[in-house]
Amino acid sequence: MPPAHPFDDDKLKEECGIFGVVGVTDAANFVALGLHALQHRGQEAGGIVSHHPDHGFNSARRFGYVRDNFTSQKLMETLPGELAIGHVRYSTAGSKGQTQIRDVQPFFGEFSMGGAAIAHNGNITNAIALRKELIERGSIFQSSSDSECIIHLMARSLQRNIPERMEDALRRVEGAFSVVAMTRTKLIGVRDPLGVRPLVLGKIGDGWALSSETCALDIIGAEYVREIDPGEMVVITAEHGVESIRPFRPQKSRFCIFEHVYFSRPDSIIGDRSVYETRRQIGVELARETPVDADLVCPVPDSGTPAAIGYAHESGIPYGMGIIRNQYMGRTFIEPTEQIRNMGVRLKLNVNRALIKGKRVVLVDDSVVRGTTSRKIKEMILDAGAAEVHFRIASPPTAWPCFYGVDTPQREKLLAATMSEDEMRDHLGVDSLKFISLDGLYRAVGEASGRDAKSPQYCDACFSGEYPVKPSDMVEKGFQMKAAE
Ligand code: SF4
Repeated sequence: MPPAHPFDDDKLKEECGIFGVVGVTDAANFVALGLHALQHRGQEAGGIVSHHPDHGFNSARRFGYVRDNFTSQKLMETLPGELAIGHVRYSTAGSKGQTQIRDVQPFFGEFSMGGAAIAHNGNITNAIALRKELIERGSIFQSSSDSECIIHLMARSLQRNIPERMEDALRRVEGAFSVVAMTRTKLIGVRDPLGVRPLVLGKIGDGWALSSETCALDIIGAEYVREIDPGEMVVITAEHGVESIRPFRPQKSRFCIFEHVYFSRPDSIIGDRSVYETRRQIGVELARETPVDADLVCPVPDSGTPAAIGYAHESGIPYGMGIIRNQYMGRTFIEPTEQIRNMGVRLKLNVNRALIKGKRVVLVDDSVVRGTTSRKIKEMILDAGAAEVHFRIASPPTAWPCFYGVDTPQREKLLAATMSEDEMRDHLGVDSLKFISLDGLYRAVGEASGRDAKSPQYCDACFSGEYPVKPSDMVEKGFQMKAAE
């Protein structure tokens, strides 16, 4: 699959989007539209399961973009019914980079009381131990995905109905999970006790929808009702509406702060805050914390744009589109020569020379991961005649990997894990490099007093190294956690 983002090889990548609908005719068509709006959360593959009283469960799983598969009338006619769920994936733990179709969700299980399909966003941090235990007890896994553990745990539960079996299964699971599942009659949504990954509820006509983000509710004309609470399970039927259950011991929530910075679409709402407005506010905080004398503020498109607007507004430095993104890089060309292949970023972005020439430029980006793209962009800006290049980054240094459903390079590949801020500046060869502080980021997302160091309000492990759920599998494999202070 071609990368959807121009710097896909140098960004943290959200690994999944999930969506489900009950109580509307041709539910699978609504799910396809919802998944299309969530495509930024996973471009590698997608799947939909539907149920119809006369035709039972049906499923389709495909590699590639939603628009290239789930727009075929012939395919969509095989997914009848008023209840459907779907999933888009990058690649989660398992066969990363070489996904097989059997790893594509939703997964399906047939139980004595009927079938169930399940789609999972997140990462199970004790999946290796669970899988070993389940295989020793006779489970036969069909895929390499950690999410399949949930189906096998449900099969072993002695509860009488599927929602109760799911509760049983999820109590054994550690890590981050938002789940959308379905039986013959019910749409089910669950968030892990810390609420690390998002899940929202919407109303459409007489029916209901569950989605990773509100932008996907907009596309189907559903009204945003509320977030599913951390640790909440909702069981939804067209006839009886939403039943809320609390299967887990209550804990203080630790939502992923990076959803605000980068993963979620700017037109989504998180915690009653517009993601766009939060990102603009991050730019405002960044300008207050890291001022610089300059002539022009430019975003690194597209995700740096709202923060750059905020930075320019607060600093009073004019804003301009110094870098233009080629909108039609959805598919990669056959690159005929080594010389063209090496152009890399230049195929995806171009510099607006007339604007840049002779200026001291502030480039605002959302994050620095490996730093490879930042270096190339700096070279392009200098080649175009900029007098100075100053990087301002809308997140703190990314120094730790994420184990909660986001694809991160190994720790030693993260620039901030091995270099100080000054060393990174010299490595990138820019005039200055500054990151927003963790407290500044917390203020921008609405925590006026900043981060509560004793009991942080969000998951920020990729910046702080403080993991709210111990990544047991990774520790078992030798990952060194940060020593307690
Ligand atoms: S480690 Fe970072 S990316 Fe992962 S859930 Fe926590 S804040 Fe989000």
